[in-house]
Amino acid sequence: MEITLASAKNYCNSPVEYSRRETIPVRVGDVVIGGDNPIVVQSMTTVDTMDTMGTVEETLRMVESGCELVRITAPSLKEAENLRNIKAELRKRGCNVPLVADIHFTPNAAELAAQIVEKVRINPGNFADKKRFESIEYTDDTYKEELERIRERFTPLVELCKKHGTAMRIGTNHGSLSDRIMSRYGDTALGMVESALEFLRICEDLNYDQIVLSMKSSNAQVMVEAYRLLAQKLDEEGLKPYPLHLGVTEAGEAEDGRIKSAVGIGTLLEDGLGDTVRVSLTEAPEYEAPVARKLVERYADRTGHAAIQPIEEIPIDPFQYHKRDSLEVLNFGDLNVPRVIADLSQLNTVEVKDLKAIGHFYLPEPDKWRMNDQGADYVYSGDKVIPFMLPNGLKELVNYSVWNSLDDKSSRFPVYTFAELAEAENCSDELNFLRFNAADINEDVLAVLEADNIVVLLETDNAHAMPAMRRFFYELVERKLRCPVVIVRPYDVTDEEQLLIDASTDIGGLIVDGFGDGVMLQVANNSNKEAYLKEAKLKNETAFGILQAGRTRMTKTEYISCPSCGRTLFDLQETTAMIRKRTDHLKGVKIGIMGCIVNGPGEMADADYGYVGSGRGKITLYRGQEVVKRGVPSAQAVDELIEIIRTDGKWLEPELVERFEN
Ligand code: SF4
Repeated sequence: MEITLASAKNYCNSPVEYSRRETIPVRVGDVVIGGDNPIVVQSMTTVDTMDTMGTVEETLRMVESGCELVRITAPSLKEAENLRNIKAELRKRGCNVPLVADIHFTPNAAELAAQIVEKVRINPGNFADKKRFESIEYTDDTYKEELERIRERFTPLVELCKKHGTAMRIGTNHGSLSDRIMSRYGDTALGMVESALEFLRICEDLNYDQIVLSMKSSNAQVMVEAYRLLAQKLDEEGLKPYPLHLGVTEAGEAEDGRIKSAVGIGTLLEDGLGDTVRVSLTEAPEYEAPVARKLVERYADRTGHAAIQPIEEIPIDPFQYHKRDSLEVLNFGDLNVPRVIADLSQLNTVEVKDLKAIGHFYLPEPDKWRMNDQGADYVYSGDKVIPFMLPNGLKELVNYSVWNSLDDKSSRFPVYTFAELAEAENCSDELNFLRFNAADINEDVLAVLEADNIVVLLETDNAHAMPAMRRFFYELVERKLRCPVVIVRPYDVTDEEQLLIDASTDIGGLIVDGFGDGVMLQVANNSNKEAYLKEAKLKNETAFGILQAGRTRMTKTEYISCPSCGRTLFDLQETTAMIRKRTDHLKGVKIGIMGCIVNGPGEMADADYGYVGSGRGKITLYRGQEVVKRGVPSAQAVDELIEIIRTDGKWLEPELVERFEN
């Protein structure tokens, strides 16, 4: 069935009022996913599944950290069989956490695991298909034959799940779609959805509904589109509203991994989608559940937020990224990358050295300014003026009352409230900022936004912040108002991880919807200058990180590294750190670091280069999806990877980059 934009609007209960999508409950041991139940936090072990005690110990640490469901890889029958020992040992130690077997390529392992653990995850891209990267022409008849073949291979597993009360996740991965799906639908969100629906329809025919669905990708934009389309398609086809398992694959590590996960998962949670969450980090698995919990707990008392003006129809396509059409005002809007405005408004005095916190460095010796990849584009100085000449490329926002009295207004632009703008004697010919709250929108404000030299600084104090701001963007789209808009948000920094999650969800969600021509994270007043600058630095980097995760402004190397599991052939954390050390100056290059050759190449579909474990101490190197070198000894693999990047003309010597930046 074709989805037209006109029909494609009901993927969530409401884009402006927090309300969780209703789903059927799916029982997994003592845990129920979906229905009225709280969102379940889950994660996956990394120890070899044949290491029973290692897996048990790791599982216990994960449960201790807040994990309510534990997934363990079962690449073959012997690992599936060993799940019995792992489960027995856990139960002996009083741990009743439900276990999920993770299956790729091996239906017989799934059938065995379904009799042992509480849930089985299959990947519809490789359950009954081997990946050959072939493009196949299907007629309706040959396609139907393929579906019959799948039904035959899949039915025994479904019957076993029914018999043993075992739940199932049909988990599509963007990177491992079958040749059949790729040939018919291409590498699209619709292909991802169809990949799961092929299997789901068989389950419904067999009267089995204890199913959770997922649509993961390492690209947060793609992942959000696919989940939304899935919810829409279930509804349109009259299939049951199955619970959704949310996750961004290969999100990476540290701040970047948290930001990327929150941009993807958080955007969907804001829409009311999602019944269970797994955050994948290239870190010990016990670090994942606390991040997932912070993401989920944002919604514990979200219901009852201040009302947001309702809308009849979503005026954008929520299933495909389109940047909102905006005017170019100086270097905001239109085809410009979203701008980052650093907030130094609460500092009493700004000195030359303070700009280091926002990526601009002054070198007295050549008497020059340098900027790193995360140099802010603008700085907001509030009710004062920065008392020295700013570096080229950095411009200043000053509150109107101060700006109006300046003799030298070059590279300085006024910030107005609506009342000030209505009565202003002066304004800049080039660029004026109008700061207001999304709730204060009215016809007078909208009339002002017709001007061609205004950029909005948009704020909200609604607890449902992203949708409150999104509502404002909807209004602009409906009225064809093209003024650029900067998203302005304050966040407490007591818990830095929570800041990353909150900002990435609120701002990332808007960016994924194609909204936002800039970002300003406000810095709280602090009499301690050092603390103030530390916060300014963190917020500046977070703003750039969110834009990178939303794929709207690439300022650093992107690592698509798998979280590792029992299949992993090398120490992923150590290897990722080593590769990062050598390559993190390659702005915009995407490097996949994958623990195994079985799933790795598919999972890093989005990467420019790949470093994939292909045997003990052996690495296979990729350019995109193409193998360039096989079986390279791991001691030489990073050098060889760099050589490939160099051959492609994308390598830069770090010393040169450093010299330029400093
Ligand atoms: S790519 Fe990584 S997480 Fe995925 S199966 Fe292979 S080793 Fe495990």
